Amino acid sequence: MATDFDVVILGGGTGGYVAAIRAAQLGKKVAVVEKGKLGGTCLHKGCIPSKALLRSAEVYATAKKAEEFGVEVKAVTLNFAKMQERKQGIVNQLHMGVQSLMKKGKIQLFEGTGRILGPSIFSPMPGTVSVEFNDGTENEILIPQNVVIATGSRPRTLPGLEVDGVQVITSDEALEMESLPDSIIIVGGGVIGIEWASMLHDLGVEVTVVEYADRIVPTEDEDISKEAERVLKKKGITVVTSAKVLPETLQKGEKVIISAEVKGTQKSFSADRILVSVGRQANVEGIGLENTSIKIDAGYIQTNEYYQTEESHIYAIGDVIGGLQLAHVASHEGITAVEHLAGEKPHRINYDNVSKCIYSSPEMASVGLTEAQAKEKGFTVKIGKFPFKAIGKALVYGQSDGFVKIVADQKTDDILGVHMIGPHVTDMISEAGLARVLNATPWELSQTIHPHPSLSEIFGEAALSVEGKAIHF
Ligand code: FAD
Repeated sequence: MATDFDVVILGGGTGGYVAAIRAAQLGKKVAVVEKGKLGGTCLHKGCIPSKALLRSAEVYATAKKAEEFGVEVKAVTLNFAKMQERKQGIVNQLHMGVQSLMKKGKIQLFEGTGRILGPSIFSPMPGTVSVEFNDGTENEILIPQNVVIATGSRPRTLPGLEVDGVQVITSDEALEMESLPDSIIIVGGGVIGIEWASMLHDLGVEVTVVEYADRIVPTEDEDISKEAERVLKKKGITVVTSAKVLPETLQKGEKVIISAEVKGTQKSFSADRILVSVGRQANVEGIGLENTSIKIDAGYIQTNEYYQTEESHIYAIGDVIGGLQLAHVASHEGITAVEHLAGEKPHRINYDNVSKCIYSSPEMASVGLTEAQAKEKGFTVKIGKFPFKAIGKALVYGQSDGFVKIVADQKTDDILGVHMIGPHVTDMISEAGLARVLNATPWELSQTIHPHPSLSEIFGEAALSVEGKAIHF
């Protein structure tokens, strides 16, 4: 059977399903082909389940120190199965929400694997999509005007450190663990590795993070990395940087043992499990790219600023094109792509204004350039920094580690970047994002009168501190 569509979206993750909804709003006849579950990585293997578990870990850790707050809790015990059940309940609820949004938009869902065909009897151009259904029913042919590739990514692994799902795992398997290990080695101290390190530590697991770079969360501002390492070590997490893991030394037995070359010497680590979190790999295989002239570079599909590939009627968005592999980026790229194909004039995304968050304890969040990036770009910078320990609400919360750092341009006074580590910073970074979008100066930020007591007061103080005028520190 062959059916005509205006737009066929390959992959119903955060990028794909949002693109589908926007295309339907623009009056398009839309199909989504999804081989797994609507919502993709973010909903089922990423953002949502990991944050649900992080929240449970935070509640557990807070309950254990309830006495500090003058609350006596007799015995605090962990029910990991219940934690997993709660996580799944949230995922299921949101999954139902996405399914009903599809129905509301009259978007047709094809539950199977999609593959792009070359020129054929159906169309002289590449872009017809063949669907192999999950339930084995006969393949279907979709003939669209436009295709949006949104096939996402999967965990990257290290050769020799192959995932066995039991002792060597990635975040995919970690989310499905039925019981907690006593100890774990986390290979990779990036965003995902640090979130897992923080969560598992809070749940009582002995955690060792082994990171190749000379600092954890190496994409963040250097001061953030330093503070994160200091706080995580203070909590009891072992952090080893400048460490090249040697997969060939892997030994599996009752424990897993692996060595790393750390600053010229070989060190051995032993734990119940190894979690490999060394980045993500784009899903570009098996989707028929060889039938098109679409280009791939370093494993990612290449597009222009409106997400058109070499085949101008075929777009690609989200993790599969690389760049900032974040859910909110994927969905905004999806909206931009379908608005463009519908003949609208969408704004191009300014990636320097995208907020990036790490939901560990302490949380981290940033927008714009780091101090080093700003200097590399030739800016003469001025810095404002203010610590949470001088913010009343942070003391009330019992979470006073961390700070806010503002990087501003000496010449124009524009805010170039804002970097935060501390309580609830992932919920507060949008104020800095707005400041970037509006090209605000630190003075303008300081003129926003922040309520007292609130954690957000730190913005006003950090903005004042750019000119050495902070009040409370
Ligand atoms: P995906 O969500 O990966 O969706 C792609 C979809 O395409 C999948 O459902 C897949 O089944 C489907 N598909 C693939 N090939 C085919 C095919 N041939 N036919 C049909 N369907 C196909 N980002 C954040 O912004 N915040 C966070 O807190 C956050 N936390 C994360 C935590 C973890 C542990 C992980 C792994 C990721 C996290 N991310 C987070 C990243 C975020 O999940 C991704 O950036 C986002 O899901 C990308 O969306 P996407 O639509 O490009 O791809």
